[in-house]
Amino acid sequence: MAAPQNLSNRPLAIRDEPKPQVKPGHVLLRVRACGVCRTDLHIVEGELPARVPNLIPGHQIVGEIVEGATTDLPPGTRVGVSWVGGVDGECPYCLRGLENLCDSPTFTGYTVHGGYAEYLLARADFVYPLPADLDDFHVAPLLCAGIIGFRSLRVAGVEHGDRVGLFGFGASAHLAIAVLRSWDCEVYVSTRGESHRHLATSLGAVWVGSEKEKPPVELDRAITFAPSGDVVVSALASLRKGGVVAINAIHLDRIPEFDYDRLLWGERQLRSVANMTRSDARDFLRIASRIGLRPKVRSFPLDQVNEALALLKNDSVDGAAAIIP
Ligand SMILES: [Zn+2]
Ligand SMILES: [Zn+2]
Repeated sequence: MAAPQNLSNRPLAIRDEPKPQVKPGHVLLRVRACGVCRTDLHIVEGELPARVPNLIPGHQIVGEIVEGATTDLPPGTRVGVSWVGGVDGECPYCLRGLENLCDSPTFTGYTVHGGYAEYLLARADFVYPLPADLDDFHVAPLLCAGIIGFRSLRVAGVEHGDRVGLFGFGASAHLAIAVLRSWDCEVYVSTRGESHRHLATSLGAVWVGSEKEKPPVELDRAITFAPSGDVVVSALASLRKGGVVAINAIHLDRIPEFDYDRLLWGERQLRSVANMTRSDARDFLRIASRIGLRPKVRSFPLDQVNEALALLKNDSVDGAAAIIP
């Protein structure tokens, strides 16, 4: 990517790059698949400020170790790499065990090059060996959309059997619903777009409505996935007292003014979900393997990445998108 710009200008172009040199504490991966995430769109279009010139985006990477192998990670090991590509391990947040809030994090495909590429250099302590029963294509979208969707359920404090609302039904939500169903939760989905509503019904939502409708019951938890503050207010309006809204969006347009007495009083909580920890990743991949999570994925060759991002921008991908280089 030469410079962030509107997607209609086709900001991403294929470029020949030397294979990265392996460094101490790192592994060199040959990329087998890379999921396309909404955050990539925010990076490519400049809603997140540019941090690296000529950046290669992509942070849901399935790769195999070709250099830098260790006893724990032998050559050929198939591993996943996610959005958090490293932390400093010494800031007050890392020392408190809150590595998702690290003051100096490395973000894959943002502060370092990512996986829209043939090879990738990754920190050896931030790769996840992948369960054999999850193939490359289906595991790629789990590596950010899945892990961060799972973290959202934790931040929202979801308990078995809860009534949970999912506001927006893109890649993350369509993975989170599978985990919720395995916890016997009743899932209420609010989303625009007929095909997203069909997908939600087919994945076991007990109620599916448009963004203007309100779920028929009060919800224990709600997670918002759309980059829209209006959606956050709709989610708040659907909560019972003591309920929690977790906002799963790295960027939000704005939150409109809302009525405190009616929407937040009664110990309702509004929380954001920031990044992920390595234990979120490991726990989620274990659950995904156990419940046989098979996301709906549409694949694109590397040279069609602009098209994949454009479809994501228009909410026209049912499920997730992945690049197969
Ligand atoms: Zn830190
Ligand atoms: Zn992501």
